[in-house]
Amino acid sequence: KRSQILNFSAGPACLPTKILEQAAKDLIDYAETGISLAELSHRSSICSNLIKSTQNNLRKLLGIPDNYSILFMQGGGTAQFSAVVYNLLAYQVAKNPSTVSNMKCDYIVTGSWGLKAAHEAKRLGAMVNIVSDPKKIDGKYGRIPDESTWNFSQNPAYIHYCDNETVDGVEFAEFPKSLPEGVPVICDMSSNILSREFDVSKYAVIYAGAQKNFGIAGITMIIVRNDILERADAPNCAKLGIPITPVILDYKTTSDCNSLYNTLPMFNVRVANLVFENLLESGGVAAQERISKRKAEKLYSLLEKYPDVFEIVPGKGYRSRMNVTFRMGNLEEKFISESKDLGFEGLKGHRSVGGIRASFYNAMPEDGVDRLIEFMETFVKRYV
Ligand code: PMP
Repeated sequence: KRSQILNFSAGPACLPTKILEQAAKDLIDYAETGISLAELSHRSSICSNLIKSTQNNLRKLLGIPDNYSILFMQGGGTAQFSAVVYNLLAYQVAKNPSTVSNMKCDYIVTGSWGLKAAHEAKRLGAMVNIVSDPKKIDGKYGRIPDESTWNFSQNPAYIHYCDNETVDGVEFAEFPKSLPEGVPVICDMSSNILSREFDVSKYAVIYAGAQKNFGIAGITMIIVRNDILERADAPNCAKLGIPITPVILDYKTTSDCNSLYNTLPMFNVRVANLVFENLLESGGVAAQERISKRKAEKLYSLLEKYPDVFEIVPGKGYRSRMNVTFRMGNLEEKFISESKDLGFEGLKGHRSVGGIRASFYNAMPEDGVDRLIEFMETFVKRYV
């Protein structure tokens, strides 16, 4: 049955079958220990070697410089919405104690995840400045307003943005050009990490949940510049009215324990490492960048060929390579039901926006995209 299904889900997303088969073996008996990876102590040397190997492979894949640490935490991308606020404000307590109480947290919002991150910062008591929010102008997400309209605060504690908005299918084509110098840049790359090359050194913190492009839900990778780490441990937060970071969200504590402050789900780390090994063997991130571009372009050009049938949600220049979102009016139900009959799963748009969404993470083979396109061509011919 599995071989007949193509899973276009936005996350949890498909994984290569050979990785799941290896993971299934490891779940019974890991590295010939006779013990399941789910039964092994996270503090055993075998598990700390697994963490190290996973970090090394990720470092190679993304060219992560030596002055950055790699952490694995739990709580998904959502926990990072909170972690960022605590850790970065604490960093500013240490760096700028006299101005931190007046610092705003700047959020460039281009879709619903960035908005959620901003809401969490506000909920935790931070002063939030929305640099840009196109929904306020357009009533929906689907574009990234020109950077000349962005409105940064005077002396922000940090700038947060989401590189790829999974629900809305909006992706930054490149690193923003007009960010004020010297301000820590925080990026949510949950849904496009490892799909293209980028310069890690432009960021203070990058985070990404595993369940889209590198494994299964339960771990999140955090790539953090060491000076942020070191300073995010400010003892005098409370005196300045800045909340103290809960220990489970604390980057410094996590780093000091090499991600083992508490029990880390090692099986999830193993799946991530299998994905990383597989990527290293198949041309690395550069290869994924070429393939992901080609996969997305194929579907966008089909959608553009039939403008009377398909309405692409995002405008040109912001279209995601990972999540292709479009609408088909009253044909949507028929489209979903016929695609299911053919074994295409996960094409329904996010419940908050509706429509259709086809997600093409690294594990979706190009041939899978070709088969979807073939079906769509015949669908159009039959109904239009
Ligand atoms: N950020 C982005 C871009 C996402 O796509 C998601 C999940 N779809 C999240 C954050 C939240 O992740 P989680 O469900 O792992 O908390």
